[in-house]
Amino acid sequence: MTTNKNNLTTSWGAPVGDNQNSMTAGSRGPTLIQDVHLLEKLAHFNRERVPERVVHAKGAGAHGYFEVTNDVSKYTKAKFLSEVGKRTPLFVRFSTVAGENGSADSVRDPRGFAVKFYTEEGNYDLVGNNTPVFFIRDAIKFPDFIHTQKRHPVTHLKNPDAVWDFWSLSPESLHQVTILMSDRGIPATYRHMHGFGSHTFKWVNAEGEGVWIKYHFKTEQGIKNLTEEVGTKIAGENPDYHTQDLYEAIEKGDFPAWKLYVQIMPLEDADTYRFDPFDVTKVWSQKDYPLIEFGRMVLNRNPENYFAEVEQATFSPGTLVPGIEPSPDKMLQGRLFAYADAHRYRVGANHNSLPINRPKADVHNYQRDGQMRFDSNGGGSVYYEPNSFGGPQESPENKTTAYPVSGSADSTSYDHNDHYTQAGDLYRLLSEEERTRLVSNIVGSMKQVTKDEIKLRQIQHFYKADPEYGTRVAEGLGLSVPQEV
Ligand code: NDP
Repeated sequence: MTTNKNNLTTSWGAPVGDNQNSMTAGSRGPTLIQDVHLLEKLAHFNRERVPERVVHAKGAGAHGYFEVTNDVSKYTKAKFLSEVGKRTPLFVRFSTVAGENGSADSVRDPRGFAVKFYTEEGNYDLVGNNTPVFFIRDAIKFPDFIHTQKRHPVTHLKNPDAVWDFWSLSPESLHQVTILMSDRGIPATYRHMHGFGSHTFKWVNAEGEGVWIKYHFKTEQGIKNLTEEVGTKIAGENPDYHTQDLYEAIEKGDFPAWKLYVQIMPLEDADTYRFDPFDVTKVWSQKDYPLIEFGRMVLNRNPENYFAEVEQATFSPGTLVPGIEPSPDKMLQGRLFAYADAHRYRVGANHNSLPINRPKADVHNYQRDGQMRFDSNGGGSVYYEPNSFGGPQESPENKTTAYPVSGSADSTSYDHNDHYTQAGDLYRLLSEEERTRLVSNIVGSMKQVTKDEIKLRQIQHFYKADPEYGTRVAEGLGLSVPQEV
């Protein structure tokens, strides 16, 4: 090694003689193709971006830890949850959903709340949002829904007609729309919002007994929100407001923290509960299934490199550990495929070997090769299974638990269509000031819709949730509640 440590080098390690002037034929040029350093610089620069996420493109991340505060080992055998006081390192990425990578943080949008636990049994990703429910409950509607949140194919502008047309024709969205249009639709910062796993998952204990669960992360900083006016002002003044806030809080040692809670439902209740508990547009009432605290999450370290850690982080709800399993939630079932597939496209087939994604647990399997295989690729070890050469073997005690299924293979909806009670419960839970702001936010958005037919259809949904709710939105839009409700 003769190269001085401080020498600028090419990416192949050779010292660079001139980094200020291209090599030209004579002082005026033209530029010579033999200036490989110039070519390499320009070519690499052209490839600096990976495709941005189709959703959740704008985000901020931080490292931290999870600590168990309450014994839940009778419900799950997951080792990282096995004893009080146990700590597991983690990485979190918060994000908006609809905007592009450079879009403003302080907009009305759900926030992604994705957590990667580096457990001793492999990574566990909990890929949630800051809302307990979602707009739709079947993954087959997801591409259509996201199209309505994106840009018009001709004008390249956001399109309120598409947004409200889709919502008014998909009344299962009403609960999430009400949360989105309420004060909590624009969190003051990423630190001042709750997180939710949203879907139902299954916890399984060492005896193989299961329970259905839902996760809640409650902010220790308290809930704080921005009004529409303040959010809009900040979006102009500092589009990166939430990103900056998270970074600076951690940098000055003001570490944000969340308490983790779980709602636990006995498996048999799923058949008798008053609605299908796997429907992600519904919450389980906390009066039926109270929150049980089990842990605490603290974020205490900023990424050293945004691209390497935050942009290349890949989360998937299918990244599970023994003791935590999926439920039949139709939205979750689609996400189990779609998230990992998005990362294979966006970051590459070997995205899970990148430092930010690599498990802290050892990886032994028979996957080989693929683009950008930058680890040892299994070296000379046995590369198929079963084999007679002592290669890694499955452990039957870690099989997913069996559960009965019945019925016909068919394209069917959830068998209940009460999209109104819970949206109405939320409306009735709000103070008069909160209701006024909710209605004002909705009217502000729906005013931009060009077709009265869409407005009237949506007003009917608000009315069915609560007559006062529908009437106030109608009045705000200068319309009457349609007679047929
Ligand atoms: P509970 O009274 O037991 O729970 C009410 C929940 O609503 C609490 O989690 C509370 O969270 C949250 N909440 C309070 N104010 C607001 C607000 N302005 N915007 C959004 N959430 C708020 O009642 P139920 O469990 O029977 O639920 C009633 C309604 O509350 C539901 O229809 C749903 O819309 C909403 N909700 C329910 C949740 C659940 O898991 N059951 C979770 C979140 C909302 P906090 O303590 O932080 O104020």
